[in-house]
Amino acid sequence: MRENHHDHNPTDSHHHHGGRPTAGKNLLGPATDELAECPVMKGSTVVKTDAEAAGLYRDYQGTRYWFCCAACEPLFDANPAQYATA
Ligand SMILES: [Zn+2]
Repeated sequence: MRENHHDHNPTDSHHHHGGRPTAGKNLLGPATDELAECPVMKGSTVVKTDAEAAGLYRDYQGTRYWFCCAACEPLFDANPAQYATA
């Protein structure tokens, strides 16, 4: 059996500022630009790129909507006007 030793990084109090350099302080973590609220399941946060990769989005009346899961897609299609309220 092989010994599987992986580095364990202790995350004491706060983590490093890794990733993309930001001009200002971003205490919220991921940029809110990346996130959308599912129009069908209100309160469900959707990562836009994930939703688009999965095809879980619609362009309706010039606005793009992202869905949190595949179940929301047909619901939106059934009655887009109900969900696509600005
Ligand atoms: Zn959903």
